[in-house]
Amino acid sequence: MQDKTLTCRDCGQEFVFTASEQEFFAQKGFTNEPSRCPECRAARKSSRGEGGYSGRRDSNRQMYPAVCATCGKETQVPFEPRGDRPVYCSDCYSSQRSSSGGYGSRSGSGSGGGRRRSW
Ligand SMILES: [Zn+2]
Ligand SMILES: [Zn+2]
Repeated sequence: MQDKTLTCRDCGQEFVFTASEQEFFAQKGFTNEPSRCPECRAARKSSRGEGGYSGRRDSNRQMYPAVCATCGKETQVPFEPRGDRPVYCSDCYSSQRSSSGGYGSRSGSGSGGGRRRSW
């Protein structure tokens, strides 16, 4: 097999259909050549939107801007902040969880589970 130069039907740019790609196509049983350059193929794929493969779910997660109730730093939280609950930045949140003292309720009622929310 040899490299082939093809013309993209979308952008009209020439691109190389390499020997190894041809081999790959043949293995997959594809009989026709790619009609678009890699960029246009990628663009089409991503413009299809959601569905399909879930490779980058995490980075697509909706985050909301918020201000930390403890230190006042701007942060982002994965839920929509409402006025009725304080929002903490990741630093304050983790330090709050790790050091659960301070309220004088260290030795008592709660057995395991840490902070309880009643709602
Ligand atoms: Zn193209
Ligand atoms: Zn903070």
